[in-house]
Amino acid sequence: MKIEVLGCSGGMGSGEYTTCIRIDEHLLIDAGSGLGKLSQNDMLAIKQVFLTHAHLDHICFLPLLLDNLFELLESPVEVLALPETLEVLREHIFNWQVWPDFSVLPDKHQPVLCYRPLSVSTPLQTVDLTVIPMPASHAVPACGYRVVSTEGKVFCFSGDTSYDASVLQTFNQAGPINMLMLECAFPERLKTVADQSKHLTPQGLKQFLLQLEQPPENVLITHLKPAFRKEICDELTDLKLPSTLHFLSSGETFFL
Ligand SMILES: [Zn+2]
Ligand SMILES: [Zn+2]
Repeated sequence: MKIEVLGCSGGMGSGEYTTCIRIDEHLLIDAGSGLGKLSQNDMLAIKQVFLTHAHLDHICFLPLLLDNLFELLESPVEVLALPETLEVLREHIFNWQVWPDFSVLPDKHQPVLCYRPLSVSTPLQTVDLTVIPMPASHAVPACGYRVVSTEGKVFCFSGDTSYDASVLQTFNQAGPINMLMLECAFPERLKTVADQSKHLTPQGLKQFLLQLEQPPENVLITHLKPAFRKEICDELTDLKLPSTLHFLSSGETFFL
């Protein structure tokens, strides 16, 4: 499994792109501004876009992707997410006012966009991967994903989440993780903001990691707000956690 981090930042700026992860050639998790780095041919290869939630930093380039692919596709791009997330897209994005309704264009029988609702913990089989939505605890309905390769390698992405015991329980029930991508958006001094917006701070991340019954081999830290990147990295390093932490940058590629 090839995991390409097209974007992983909690904000924007030179070299910073918001969340978009490409797995192999056909699958995206989230459609943040990192998606804009793909070539037209790369975009044409995308078959499925799994969304964690409807916040703008995770969906902002989806409308532009579908516009790029208009009239070029033989089959629709599947957009897979929790029903609440799909409803937000229908009502607030693809509503003819913000952007055209690509679920009926160019033709309602052969559209560019096909909505596909997901349920937490119900696996979905793609050509060569199993994707299982995992719970998340965020300010809006949200999920993470567990992606399993045919060789049994496991990549987990928390999505945007705060610390939550029931989320942890589901992660523990799901079994070992080879690579975990976990968010940490704010430093500890902004814990109030983190709690209000339901993101992790270093202490919350520590609590999450220490309660995983089987610590992942690799932990990738994502969604760092650019203004606080150094502060968050320093705080996490000082915690001396048992797992090796890697502070992600947009553009990195991993193989599992
Ligand atoms: Zn969010
Ligand atoms: Zn976010």
